[in-house]
Amino acid sequence: MPAEFFDPISDHKTPPTYFFFDGTSWKGSESGKTVPVVSPIDGSPVGNLPVVTTNEIDQVMASATAAQPAWEATALNKRVSVIHLAADWIRQYQEYLTNLMVREIGKSAEEAKSEIVRTADLIDYFADEAEALRGETIDSDNFPGYEKGKIAIVERVAHGVVLAIAPFNYPVNLSASKIAPALLMGNSVVVKPPTMGGISGLHLVRIFEKAGVPPGVITAVTGTGDVIGDYLVRHPKISMVAFTGSSDTGLAIAGKSPMKPLLFECGGNNPVVVMPDADIALASREIIKGAFAYSGQRCTGIKYVLTTPAIREQLLSQIVKLMPEMVKAGDPRSPDTKMVGPVISEQAAVHVEEVIQESVKNGATVVMGGKREKAMIEPTILTGVIPTMPVIAKETFGPVVSFVDVQSFDEAVTIINQSSYGLQASVFTKDEGTGIVFGSKLHVGSVQINGSPQRGPDHFPFLGVKHSGVGVQGVRYSLEAMSRIRPIVLNKPQ
Ligand code: NAP
Repeated sequence: MPAEFFDPISDHKTPPTYFFFDGTSWKGSESGKTVPVVSPIDGSPVGNLPVVTTNEIDQVMASATAAQPAWEATALNKRVSVIHLAADWIRQYQEYLTNLMVREIGKSAEEAKSEIVRTADLIDYFADEAEALRGETIDSDNFPGYEKGKIAIVERVAHGVVLAIAPFNYPVNLSASKIAPALLMGNSVVVKPPTMGGISGLHLVRIFEKAGVPPGVITAVTGTGDVIGDYLVRHPKISMVAFTGSSDTGLAIAGKSPMKPLLFECGGNNPVVVMPDADIALASREIIKGAFAYSGQRCTGIKYVLTTPAIREQLLSQIVKLMPEMVKAGDPRSPDTKMVGPVISEQAAVHVEEVIQESVKNGATVVMGGKREKAMIEPTILTGVIPTMPVIAKETFGPVVSFVDVQSFDEAVTIINQSSYGLQASVFTKDEGTGIVFGSKLHVGSVQINGSPQRGPDHFPFLGVKHSGVGVQGVRYSLEAMSRIRPIVLNKPQ
């Protein structure tokens, strides 16, 4: 039963106060302080999270460090069984986790369920792929001037203690995408869940604990990033930081863990280029989906469309026709709502509204939407946007898409390459060769041809360049990032 399974992680009051996990016990913080988590749907309290002290962080780090070598020494097939069991438990509690996430972060039931199901599949895939990883041996005489006599045995070993920091928008998936590969490669993991989404994140940690991750190998510390973040990322016992979040936070923390591997997935400000020969109906549907799914709060969301004025008019006439059928803003718990619910908080919505208004003041036109009520922003389409306007100069994390007119497609390349972001870009053209040539000019992590930016399928490499990230994720790539190679050189007597 869910209540029993998750029993130890809160005090069961109304609203419950959740506990942090020191690797052995779930408990409240000695600080006595908590931070509230409120539902973006109606502002109701979902629960409270403890704000841990530096002393508690030290204790967690000590447990994680002490437990790691035995975990790494455990047979991979045993670690794999634990990880598969975690995936099974996630499936078992799919409905419970879905309902929790809908309330906690205002994601629609369909999108929340899809996150849960995808997470279980991802964890299984990680476990299978970890078993398929192989080391190698390298002979010395491959290199000029060397004879036989040396052989490098190259194996993969853990980093040690991985700090996993996840964002609010995928609190389960983007925690699991760090926890599973880190554990499979023999690391211990200190999880710092987002504050909004932290309750879902703690449930995930409980699942890994119940699946059989030994004491100390997984832990979870809570408290807002601005209060506990610095102490965590600077902690000397951390061997690696795996972070997903905004570019601003990524930039702020990147230099605080010097000489340690970083795996950072940061903000995206993803453009779409629509060529004159594009399938306009397809591009219109993909723009709607890409811009408005989960209220535009996805790192891979479409933020602006670069095309000529003539194509822009064709797109807009299709998009305006398709919007009522594809998008319906409302309460994410209602089956009638499609894609657009509240953004994560009223404060975030006010920020999005201000950015829209600022762009309009500078000459942009609202074709659709533009208004706010509490945490709800109407699905918004702007035209006449130029790259320096705040709506696209920075990532706008809400249901807003901007049209930027270009006179040539070289100009589109310049605009994309001048952006400080570089997660993904999409190109729509019926000529795939043109798409590939155009895509190869773009300084972004990945290019999609005839599809909106997206992360999945999860075994594809996923990365950002510039302020959008450091390192590569995707099943095998994440396993490699969560480990290092250790060559042992045998010098054979000749
Ligand atoms: P955020 O405000 O940057 O927070 C991300 C995480 O960092 C949260 O757990 C946050 O904790 C923590 N944090 C904040 N300040 C910190 C500090 N000084 N030290 C250590 N940790 C700190 O991002 P968000 O609003 O949750 O998430 C949305 C952002 O994530 C968007 O920019 C989106 O594009 C990006 N994102 C990127 C990807 C990708 O794959 N590239 C995927 C998803 C999301 P608190 O919640 O407690 O503040």
